[in-house]
Formats: sequence, C-alpha cells, structure tokens
Amino acid sequence: MLVLFLLLSACQLVQIDQADEQKQKKSSPPPPPPSKLTIAAIGDVMMHEPQMKSGKTKNGYDFRKFFKNVQPYLSSPDLTVANLETTLAGTSKPYSGFPRFNSPDQILDALKYAGVDVITTANNHSNDTGEKGIIRTFTTIKKKGFMMTGTAPTPEQRKGIVIEKNGIKLGFLSYTEHTNGLPVAKGKPYLVNLINPAKITKDIKELKQQGAEYVLVSLHWGTEYQRTPNPFQKKTATQVLQAGADVILGHHPHVQQQIEKVNINGQEKLIIYSMGNFISNQSDPYTDQGVIVYLDIMKDAKTKKIKLTKTSFLPTVVNKYKKSGKSEYQVVPLPTKKAGNLKAYPGFTKKRWEKSWNDINSIITKTESFPVFAPKP
Ligand SMILES: [Zn+2]
Repeated sequence: MLVLFLLLSACQLVQIDQADEQKQKKSSPPPPPPSKLTIAAIGDVMMHEPQMKSGKTKNGYDFRKFFKNVQPYLSSPDLTVANLETTLAGTSKPYSGFPRFNSPDQILDALKYAGVDVITTANNHSNDTGEKGIIRTFTTIKKKGFMMTGTAPTPEQRKGIVIEKNGIKLGFLSYTEHTNGLPVAKGKPYLVNLINPAKITKDIKELKQQGAEYVLVSLHWGTEYQRTPNPFQKKTATQVLQAGADVILGHHPHVQQQIEKVNINGQEKLIIYSMGNFISNQSDPYTDQGVIVYLDIMKDAKTKKIKLTKTSFLPTVVNKYKKSGKSEYQVVPLPTKKAGNLKAYPGFTKKRWEKSWNDINSIITKTESFPVFAPKP
C-alpha cells in the first residue's frame, strides 16, 4: 500500500512538473535558433596544356579525377566558390594553355562533381579569347547550373549576384587588376570587371539594396610568386571593406598569402590575400600548393546581425605523376600536420606532405592563428 501511495505521489509530481514547464514555455518562448552557413572558397582553377592531355578520353574529356580526393571537402559546405582562370570559347578556336587559355567545357563538369556552386571569372585571363570567348564562357557556366559573376555579355549582367542560403542573403562580386595587356572590346567595359574602388563601392551599395546581407568580393590581384601582399593589395583591401564588403577572396599570385582579420568601424572583417593555385601544371616553389578556406557565418534571429564565427583552412597540394606514360593530376587534401595514408597518392611522399603542410600553415597564419578545418561530426 505504501509503495502504491509513493508511486502515485511520484506520478502526480511528474504531472505537476510537466504542467509548470508548459506554463513557462507559454510565457517565454525559446528564442528561434540562429541561421548558420559554411562557405568554402578555393583559389585559381588553371588549365595548362598537359592537364588537358591528362583529361582526354576516347569521346572527349573528363577531369573529375583531378578533384576526387577533395570532393568530400568541397561538397560538404553549404556553398563553395572557385575562381576559373581560363575561358571556354568552344571548339571554334583550338584548345590552348598558357598564354591564352581556352579549355574544354568538361572542366565545369569536374567542378560541379567536386562540389563548386559559385564561379568567379574576373582575372587576367578573362579576355584571352576576346569578347566571343567571354560571352560563351558566361553562357556555358550558366547552362551547367552554376551561379557566376566577374565577366558578362551585358551591363546588367555585370553586376554581382545575391544568393539566399539557410535564410542568409549573400552577395558575390568579382574583379581583376588587369587582363594581361589585352584590351577589353572598346566601349564594353562590362565584359570584364576591372578593379576600380569607385565602381566597387557603387556595386556593393546596389547589391545591398537588392537585399545582400553579407558581401564577399573576389579580387584577382597582387604580384605573381610573392608570398606577401603588395601596397596596392593593402590599399585596395581597405577601400573595398570600407565600402561595405565583409570578406575579400584573393587570388592570382599563384602562391598563398596571409589571411588577416581587420576591424572596420567596429565590425570584424576578413582579407584572404591569396589562396594560390587550386590546380595547375605549375611547378615553381609553392605554386603546387593551395588552400580551401572555410567561413562559418551566423545570423542572429532577433537582431538579424551576421557574424563570421570561425575561419579555418585546409592545405592542399597538386600531385602530378605518370601512369602508363601519361601525366596524371590530383589535388591532395592535407588535413593533418603529420602525413596520413599515402596509398591513394602515387609518388607522393611523407616528406612532401609535411613540408607542404608547414609551408601553407606558416603563410596562412602569418599574422594570426586560424585552425585547420575539421569536418563536422
Ligand atoms: Zn591570374
């Protein structure tokens, strides 16, 4: 009897507790969860002649094997952005590597497979196949289902893009310092976005009017093979951030340069000076190395304020090796300082893994420390 009484009391207590809890819930609803988003960015996707040969198949081209090992790292973020440093002018001109790039469209299929969503196209090779090449590059990228900015067939399409993801509206813009001395078609400056702080300021303002809440600006700039930003980069970075950009995604030097956090009017912003090559046939020191930068962004449901909560990076290296007399390329992810399993990477040594990891880490974290990317459990 006593046991039954105790049990009944316990049940009643539980019921009272639940009722109390429900009352509390009614009086103060829990705050809605913040919107979260992870963006990944990579540097230059280059297509030199030997890479094209490597991707040649019986019926055409297939470059997916370049990205097989980094595919999980590029497809897991909510949005991945890459800089395409070549043109897709089609077969009316022969395919070519340096100095005037014209690549098979299948490079886009490989980027899609890898997990890339957004392509920036303003760089010193944008004009390699002239106006026709720019227009075909634009239409082909769009046709393959990417979002893109940087070069365009019309003044209206030149302006940046706004992408809504997880309740956050991101704005993307892309500009280049020059076009290798190849003049852009007369009277058509919209074909290639050139760096011009006054124009960038206006573009950012317009993008915000269209609803962009967080603005990422891709800048193709700097001195080739220099691992330190030059005065032009420093000055331009400040101007672009002061104009309202939140993050600068830098590339062109073919090597990495530091990432810096800066405070502009009380807001923390980020300059990624150079991510280097993501894939290329270059072999000068450090040009085989690259980096994937991850930006974790959070939007407070109440204040609507957006914050960059974490910046992390993953070092990568291009491993070039011979298979049946043919050159093969693969981007190797280096998630750990100590060499991991080398089986999947023919000819790639423990020494090269660890040296590359150290080279990349020392440059990226030159002015402040950033963690190496760790996949979410
Ligand atoms: Zn470049």
